Amino acid sequence: MLSGPSAVGKSTVVEAIRRDCPDIWLSTSVTTRRPRPGEVHGREYYFVTEREFREMLEAGRLLEWARYAGNCYGTPAGQVAERLAAGSPGLLEVDVTGARQVRAAVPGALLVFLAPPSWNELVRRLTARGTESGDVRRQRLAAAKDELQAESEFDITLVNTSVPEVCAQLVALIKAEPSRLTGV
Ligand code: 5GP
Repeated sequence: MLSGPSAVGKSTVVEAIRRDCPDIWLSTSVTTRRPRPGEVHGREYYFVTEREFREMLEAGRLLEWARYAGNCYGTPAGQVAERLAAGSPGLLEVDVTGARQVRAAVPGALLVFLAPPSWNELVRRLTARGTESGDVRRQRLAAAKDELQAESEFDITLVNTSVPEVCAQLVALIKAEPSRLTGV
């Protein structure tokens, strides 16, 4: 499982793996956030309403979930259970709150923390993305500060200096431990 602060580059890493490593299975989360330009329902996320999200949660169909900067995000449990039952590798991208829930629900999961090269670089990336308003950006920076404190709860830290390098390290980890669910 891949986790780490917002804007550290988790989704860029996951995007690169989606593009270059079709043999790595990626979990598709549900979110109540609106799609960003270029995002496709069923690929980056399943975009759902608050009500649909609540129904999934109440029906026990989410392995983990978190509220993040005003929106809800969750991992559908069914798809992950199928992968685990088949002993096939898979990768989840979740925030730190979600990582803790996956740790409790799937004790064998490999938790990978993606760290920024520095705090200034994290701020620069969040600002450069330009997809969020000032308020949302401030919320995300505050969340990132908390999330950085959680690094010691993870099994492995990868520093995101270069996307190709982190992808190669992550793919090597997933392939070395194919029966574990890897989270970023
Ligand atoms: P974004 O809105 O930038 O796509 O994602 C915001 C945050 O939610 C990121 O830190 C991302 O990793 C996290 N996230 C994405 N999907 C999930 C999920 O299924 N569960 C949890 N807990 N966090 C998620």
